[in-house]
Amino acid sequence: MLEKKLGKRRFYKLTEFECINLLKVGEEAFKNTYPKSRDGFAVALMTVSGNVYTGVSYRSDTATLTMHSEATALVHAAIHGEKNVVAITGPNCHICKQLIYESSLRSGIDVVVIIREGGKIKQIPISKMMPYPWPEKLNE
Ligand SMILES: [Zn+2]
Repeated sequence: MLEKKLGKRRFYKLTEFECINLLKVGEEAFKNTYPKSRDGFAVALMTVSGNVYTGVSYRSDTATLTMHSEATALVHAAIHGEKNVVAITGPNCHICKQLIYESSLRSGIDVVVIIREGGKIKQIPISKMMPYPWPEKLNE
């Protein structure tokens, strides 16, 4: 991974190998969706230290309390003391885009979303997915 700066934005461009590995690790985690295996969603993220954490959807019968895989992946990293996320696999729902965007605001790192599209791997900064972001800055 290579740190890049574009204006005020700081982000990391992953190597093709890192992208493929992250997608593979996310796909492997799919067996761990809760409560039923392979029923829901799974992702993987990479932190600035190069560590990879997975997340799986955790379904509640209330539906409202269901946790998305992106949320559990961010928590998984936070539990290990890692708050500086550089990349996460996608595509992601809009609730999760908001969560990823807020993580970006806090860390100052524009998290790249890794997706496969038409046989190609793309790295899309979360800022590009949030054209009219809320909040514009954090109230901390
Ligand atoms: Zn989601």
